[in-house]
Amino acid sequence: MDNKSKLRYLPKIDELVARLENLWAAYGKEMVTECAREQIDHMRQTLLAGGDCDVAMEAVCAAVEKELKAIYAPHLHAVINATGVVLHTNLGRAVLSERAAKAAYTAARSYTNLEYNIEKGARGSRYDHIDKLICRITGAEAAMVVNNNAAAVMLILSTMAKGHEVVVSRGELVEIGGAFRVPEIMEQSGGTLIEVGTTNKTHTWDYERAINENTGAFLKVHTSNFKVMGFTEEVTLEQMVEIGHAHNIPVIYDLGSGLFADLDPVGIHDEPKILEAMATGVDVLSFSGDKLLGGPQAGIIVGKKALIDKMKKNPLTRAFRVDKMTFAALEETLRCYLDGSCDQSIPTITMIKKPVEALDLAAKKLKNLLKHIDGVESAVMREKSQVGGGSVPGVFLDTRAVQVEVKGISAAALEEKLRKEYSIICRISKDKLVFDVRTLLEGDDKKIAEALRKISEELA
Ligand SMILES: *Cc1c(COP(=O)(O)O)cnc(C)c1O
Repeated sequence: MDNKSKLRYLPKIDELVARLENLWAAYGKEMVTECAREQIDHMRQTLLAGGDCDVAMEAVCAAVEKELKAIYAPHLHAVINATGVVLHTNLGRAVLSERAAKAAYTAARSYTNLEYNIEKGARGSRYDHIDKLICRITGAEAAMVVNNNAAAVMLILSTMAKGHEVVVSRGELVEIGGAFRVPEIMEQSGGTLIEVGTTNKTHTWDYERAINENTGAFLKVHTSNFKVMGFTEEVTLEQMVEIGHAHNIPVIYDLGSGLFADLDPVGIHDEPKILEAMATGVDVLSFSGDKLLGGPQAGIIVGKKALIDKMKKNPLTRAFRVDKMTFAALEETLRCYLDGSCDQSIPTITMIKKPVEALDLAAKKLKNLLKHIDGVESAVMREKSQVGGGSVPGVFLDTRAVQVEVKGISAAALEEKLRKEYSIICRISKDKLVFDVRTLLEGDDKKIAEALRKISEELA
């Protein structure tokens, strides 16, 4: 049948809706009608554009039903991360600690003292408590929390850079992701970007020469997601602070990831640490809540009180405000750093620091679960996992993965099936499917085994 005839054969809306009567109870007749109309429209457009589709009544009914199901199904759901990428941006970055998740739940399900001073029985500030906690852990004079680190940088610059020049090394004019690019943020904030140095080398005298009476700040941006190697030179934060302070110019550092924990034992040495950065005397520092800090999405700003106070008065602060669930989860995450339990209780840190022996055991356990499934072959492999989340580029952690083959299906087809039907995300390494056990949460191994058992039964 050619497209012209197919267009004539498209079911009439009324007939289609009548045929779908069995769905009226579940979705309502109006919704069924709306979806039926959209489906017919879509098919007409497809046919007019020279495309192909099945116009038989049964096929159209099935398409409408599928769409209705998709509309009513929850979109955001748990997936199993078997990629080994700990801070997987596409999979929602940090997994919260049990403590943080419980606190968020409680905040969500009850009234809270968010903006109420219990002692005084009067209005309080939602920021007081958490700001003090951040100051205690970082040693900063003042602190504040906004929606994410992009908002933090935006707020810092629009408070400190407006009408002034901000000096940035050409090696640090980075794009973090999405539309977050340093030159564009600068433009938005009303500051003038003064680029110094080159892509690979910036010297202390580059900063010194850029100083004039209109210089508002020096900005250092951690090049989170890439590494420049070879003939390079970077001015350290310490040197920038020295030059800046000699000329009364504040120094801002967008540190990116927010690392408090000690990751040296696993060979992560290059990621800037919050406490080391603070020790330089930097004026303002910002970092994410949901990267290496391992908490909820948030942006944390710490630094000199006079500057932070000015930011708190910026109207953007209200626009970038954090909700009570984030507050609760962030506070609990920070408390893990205060009481020293971060290695055990914050999943991001636990996963990154997981000893190879423990990974080996976990891989063997998964392999054991697969042992008795007909048609499934598995082996424990030495692999490398990445931290991800645009942090620690070039660092590969020794890990263990279980390589799996299922009789009668290619690795690519199996990967797709696991992803679409079971929400299991894994990777293909050397044409074989591998499950990196580093990022598996409790019970995930059983779910993987169950999915593979079902798939191999289907194929048998
Ligand atoms: C990730 C990152 C950002 C953006 O932080 P979000 O919390 O994702 O908004 C900004 N700057 C640097 C250097 C980063 O690494």
